[in-house]
Amino acid sequence: MYDIHHYADGKIVEGTSGRFGNIFNPSTGEVQGRVALASKAEVEGVIAVAEKAAEAWGRESVVKRARVLQNLVHILYREKDALAEALSREHGKVFSDAQGDVQRGLEVAEFAQGIPHLIKGEYSDNVSTGIDMYSMRKPLGVVAGITPFNFPAMIPLWMSTVAIACGNAFVLKPSERDPSVPMMLAACWKEAGLPDGVFNVVNGDKESVDTLCTDPRIKAVSFVGSTPIAQYVYATGTAHGKRVQAMGGAKNHMIIMPDADLDQVADALIGAAYGSAGERCMAISVAVPVGKAVADKMIEMLKPRVEALKVGHSMDPLAEMGPLVTAEHRAKVKGYIDLAEQEGSKLVVDGRSFQYNMQGFEKGFYMGGSLLDNVKPGMRSYKEEIFGPTLQVLRTESFDEAASLPTIHEYGNGTSIFTRDGDTAREYVNRVEVGMVGVNVPIPVPLAFHSFGGWKNSAFGDMNQHGMEGVRFYTKVKTVTSRWPTGIRSGAEFVIPTLN
Ligand code: NAD
Repeated sequence: MYDIHHYADGKIVEGTSGRFGNIFNPSTGEVQGRVALASKAEVEGVIAVAEKAAEAWGRESVVKRARVLQNLVHILYREKDALAEALSREHGKVFSDAQGDVQRGLEVAEFAQGIPHLIKGEYSDNVSTGIDMYSMRKPLGVVAGITPFNFPAMIPLWMSTVAIACGNAFVLKPSERDPSVPMMLAACWKEAGLPDGVFNVVNGDKESVDTLCTDPRIKAVSFVGSTPIAQYVYATGTAHGKRVQAMGGAKNHMIIMPDADLDQVADALIGAAYGSAGERCMAISVAVPVGKAVADKMIEMLKPRVEALKVGHSMDPLAEMGPLVTAEHRAKVKGYIDLAEQEGSKLVVDGRSFQYNMQGFEKGFYMGGSLLDNVKPGMRSYKEEIFGPTLQVLRTESFDEAASLPTIHEYGNGTSIFTRDGDTAREYVNRVEVGMVGVNVPIPVPLAFHSFGGWKNSAFGDMNQHGMEGVRFYTKVKTVTSRWPTGIRSGAEFVIPTLN
């Protein structure tokens, strides 16, 4: 058993609220620790620390800030496996996948090393006679990040590396399900040479989130999580005068054209639907074959693959999929499969009753993969996000019918199309109302130097995460118009001025 507290001013700060949440090990089903849940006053204390640190950090030279990021990158590479192990112990995703979680965050730190170049302003010489005009990007001050359970390394790093490189101080409110990795990241920042108070962690729940969204000292809030909370954070934060980017849930479709390489499609679908037990906002949760022949063949190919999925504890090197994050979440996913059956879907593979019998792990939050056929657009189980190891197959007759589905759906995070035809792919890319699109790529997560963000109910606010969008989100532009009076150059005075 261990306790996780908060991190402020370069050190661990014990929680004083008297409130704690349980930290489970999803692989064993046991409570392995407790996380302190901050009170409003504790969050306000951390904001005060960050506000003080933001002043000096915002004035620090951009090259020095870049060097801290360079150090951080080296430390994160060194600590990658330790971070991944802690991550899989609290999240339940398999170790190799947890390494990927750290890697994708680390890549944003690599991007942020380039801040001297990224933050450069614009300059116009002689806009009018003797007048120059230039702009610069200034930090906002103190900014907050509120993050979900499913990427406890990547998402805090998406936000904090860019925000801090831009000269802001950062207050992270991570998910209470897996709080160890964010605290380890705090130690990495410190070792990298970041001044105390620039990176802080408050662990907590709604009380912390509400404080961060309403306190006037917080200038911007980055949120990633479920859509109802994203909407709430966006509404609350903007009503209190803050910039807010709030990423929400997803329902990602893969369109399968009759000319696609079906072996490639089946492999891609298995990884994209069941990897991380489906607990990814970019998981493919709906397969959309075009034509009956493709649909029948897909089901025939997927069924044995889903049945053969290797489910195991998070440190089992042979496991392809670990447990779900909590017993409640597993019950919710099973409830959606019950609903899908009641609504008339055909349950081709049923993962609900899967039992993992390895000694010591019998009580983990495991379930097998499920495959549902004959899904229809009107079903509630199709409209809502399930966020579990389940793939729904929605049969269509034409490209137009298939391509309209992700556009009509309320979520618009990611989608992909598998085809050999460039014209079809190009048309789909241009037509679909979704923020991130893959062509023969199942999970089109943009790299650090591009930006991440969905459309419609998958994201609220104007700017995406990381890439240049991140730099814009965490800075405000100051534009200067400058004229210098003539004088010393035309009538230079070489004698030392004296009073007379
Ligand atoms: P969540 O919405 O339950 O929690 C996210 C954060 O909000 C956590 O820090 C949590 O403490 C806080 N929170 C929870 N309830 C709150 C409340 N009532 N008031 C204020 N704050 C509250 O999400 P989760 O279960 O941790 O993560 C899974 C969800 O995140 C899924 O819907 C998934 O699609 C989404 N997600 C989206 C993206 C994206 O980029 N679009 C990425 C990852 C995850």
